[in-house]
Amino acid sequence: MKKESRLRQESNKSSSSWHNNIEPQKLSLQKDVTVVGAGLAGCTTASALANIGYNVTVIDRHEKPAQEGSGNRQAVIYPRLSLHSTPLPQINYKAMVNASSFYKSFWRSGLGEQCGVMILPSSIHDAQKQKTIFQNLGQSNSFFSLLDKRNIKKISGLALCSPSALYFPLLGWLPPVAVCERLLKHPNISLKKAVIKKIEYRRKLNTWNLFDSMGNKFAETPILVLANSYECLNFSQTQFLPVKKVRGQITEIPTTIASNRLRVVICGQGYLTPGTNGSHSCGATYSKSQDREVCISDHKKNLEKLSSNDPLLKKLVGHFSPANLDGRADFRCTTPDYLPIVGAVPNLSEMIEAFSELRKDAKSQIATYGTYLPNLYIHCGLGSRGLSYAPLGAKLLAAEIAREPSPLEKDLRKAMHPARFIIRALKKKQL
Ligand SMILES: Cc1cc2nc3c(=O)[nH]c(=O)nc-3n(C[C@H](O)[C@H](O)[C@H](O)COP(=O)(O)OP(=O)(O)OC[C@H]3O[C@@H](n4cnc5c(N)ncnc54)[C@H](O)[C@@H]3O)c2cc1C
Repeated sequence: MKKESRLRQESNKSSSSWHNNIEPQKLSLQKDVTVVGAGLAGCTTASALANIGYNVTVIDRHEKPAQEGSGNRQAVIYPRLSLHSTPLPQINYKAMVNASSFYKSFWRSGLGEQCGVMILPSSIHDAQKQKTIFQNLGQSNSFFSLLDKRNIKKISGLALCSPSALYFPLLGWLPPVAVCERLLKHPNISLKKAVIKKIEYRRKLNTWNLFDSMGNKFAETPILVLANSYECLNFSQTQFLPVKKVRGQITEIPTTIASNRLRVVICGQGYLTPGTNGSHSCGATYSKSQDREVCISDHKKNLEKLSSNDPLLKKLVGHFSPANLDGRADFRCTTPDYLPIVGAVPNLSEMIEAFSELRKDAKSQIATYGTYLPNLYIHCGLGSRGLSYAPLGAKLLAAEIAREPSPLEKDLRKAMHPARFIIRALKKKQL
């Protein structure tokens, strides 16, 4: 939209309205959506849309869902609380509470376990912090409690040495592959296999064309959601996003008579799940390596991290040789502010033009809405918290596509918005 017509619409907009679409009339009212990517982000989004009547085609480069970042045997809803009232801890908390009710039916049907998650403090200072968090947030809240040594043993099944721990009884672990498979089992959802190399908007027909690796048109859709993790960097429309591909490896530790007593997920430095089918999952590492091969040195790091939590855990895993352990490595998609990216894809050049005043004065009052590519959305950047972020992101995106009220307060919604990076970069004169 040109400058003059934008200026005509200024009256009721504030400088912080960049997340609203200046051309809402161009949003599609059709009920057909294509989602690229069948990991946790894509499958939760497809399911949220199918549940409100959309017909969804999910396209992935693998035959089956959750074969990449979301492919671990056991994933944990990892809680992280803070006393700060910034969007990150607030969204983490909301995502975790939402996830706990979202996965209830999965747990009831025997997928994973709502066994509770226990966070061991990493130091005396950390234990004090946990105490303060509980005093400030936990006493009026049944979502978590502060355990003493006696209750740690009673609940976890292990005589851990830690004097205290935060405990989240309503959380647990899930097998993401089975979760994704179940999410896609909906009469309104179909899964197709293709590598999507390019997407192109056809203005006349108001549709998006998707091209495969042979350059052939594979699909055409009125509404497109990109849920293909860090691979969004390969599309010209989303390559401005500051996401990173970060390798992670988990280690599978065989159960023993002693370790089989573990009844909860232990978190702290890394995590350890209760044993299922003869092994515990222990994770996870972080590295810049682009290699998907499992490596012994990462097994060693996982064991060391776990051992540093508690002498008893060290005893439980200390006799395993990293060279003899199995595991799995894949890649996360991370963002600089650790929050996911969910929402309409901005039109980069028009946003820069409309908000360029921010380069001169970061506090400038620019009373206009943002400009977005028609009916193109993204859900990625789930970092290390795919299991908890994905259901909340999917809920948010489905509401946005269906033009329903947002499930999140304005500040929190904006903190997950794809356009936040453009506004921040302009303010810092980086664009
Ligand atoms: C070792 C490790 C341990 C982890 N542990 C946990 C944990 O315990 N708890 C937790 O919450 N999170 C954990 N995470 C993070 C979590 O797994 C991710 O946040 C989550 O899986 C991301 O989901 P996604 O759908 O965004 O990405 P993915 O699962 O990677 O899905 C992206 C999909 O897009 C497809 N795709 C990509 N490009 C194309 C294309 N061009 N055409 C077609 N298809 C395409 C891929 O095939 C893939 O299926 C862990 C991650 C790792 C690596």
